Amino acid sequence: IEESEKFRIEYWELEEAKLRRMPAPRPLAARIALVTGAGSGIGKATARRLAAEGACVVVADLDGANAEAVAKDLGGPDKAVAVTVDVTSEEQIKSAFDAAVLAFGGVDLVVNNAGISISKPLLETTARDWDLQHDIMARGSFLVSREAARVMIGQELGGDIVYIASKNAVFAGPNNIAYSATKADQAHQVRLLAAELGEHGIRVNGVNPDGVVRGSGIFAAGWGARRAATYGIEESELGAFYAQRTILKREVLPEHVANAVFALTGGDLTHTTGLHIPVDAGVAAAFLR
Ligand code: NAD
Repeated sequence: IEESEKFRIEYWELEEAKLRRMPAPRPLAARIALVTGAGSGIGKATARRLAAEGACVVVADLDGANAEAVAKDLGGPDKAVAVTVDVTSEEQIKSAFDAAVLAFGGVDLVVNNAGISISKPLLETTARDWDLQHDIMARGSFLVSREAARVMIGQELGGDIVYIASKNAVFAGPNNIAYSATKADQAHQVRLLAAELGEHGIRVNGVNPDGVVRGSGIFAAGWGARRAATYGIEESELGAFYAQRTILKREVLPEHVANAVFALTGGDLTHTTGLHIPVDAGVAAAFLR
């Protein structure tokens, strides 16, 4: 038998062995999720949806009191535990995963959702703004994904990592260079990690929301008021204003983003990885003025 033929056979034997080891996606009722920033807004809605579908959930947030309240609401220690974590800290991220393993025996679904939004014009954006925004969203989600991968590869059960990115990952909007740049960074993390972790049965996808006003702390922290002032409307009218700009004429709520996370992790999208799903009522397809 020729050397090249031997190599070919060995290669395919290795590939087949890999395929045999490849874990199939498991139902949410058998899974353990860790959601960052789950004390509020989109993260909270996502934690709630995953728990409703049967997953055990680790509610991880910088705001420990909010995380506690959400975990309690989801059914307490048998279903959900709260951990206080700052995603800029490697040690705290490690502790959050340790807490998940202690409480539920592992983690096989991670949602990178924690975030802040520093939205300023270029000339007002300081180096400190840039660093803070990137520390939390670009570096923070990288650190969370790295720990997630470490745990998931060890478990050999496959898993999911989902990034709550943004329409801003793809489209430029004025006056938020720091925020949008971190979202573009996250979008590329999705593709890079999908490529690197696929052979372990770990899928990595993103969700790109836009215009989630009600229930979002990011909007409450002055952003909504500034936007409303720009458009010359009341802040309470912002939801309807955004809806009006969409193809579907629908307001996007945190629950709609959570639906997409469910579709990616517990629904039928079992062969999807490296993708971003827009949840924006059509804004990414056509911007109506
Ligand atoms: P939110 O303010 O309601 O929730 C963000 C959560 O992240 C908060 O609970 C906050 O305490 C937590 N957090 C902030 N810094 C943290 C840190 N260092 N470590 C751990 N947790 C931290 O906002 P939201 O609108 O629900 O946003 C959630 C995600 O969705 C963000 O990544 C945001 O960029 C993204 N997003 C939101 C919108 C929108 O329209 N609201 C649109 C696109 C993307």
